[in-house]
Amino acid sequence: MKDQIDRANELAEKEREFALAKYRQKQTACVSLTDCEDCDEPIPEERRRFVVGCTRCIDCQQDHEHRLKGYRK
Ligand SMILES: [Zn+2]
Repeated sequence: MKDQIDRANELAEKEREFALAKYRQKQTACVSLTDCEDCDEPIPEERRRFVVGCTRCIDCQQDHEHRLKGYRK
């Protein structure tokens, strides 16, 4: 019985660690992505440093902003 409890605790501990790691990963993703989330092209490091939290390359970001404003091509 004791073993079962230990194993359950171990599992809960692992789950917590996993959730934490996922949370941290998400936070890192909020800073800046290395690849554009729309077209998967690498985002230049200069742009990533300049635009904190950018997740798209320049082209896709412009497209995205146009879409947000309801702009139709
Ligand atoms: Zn892109």
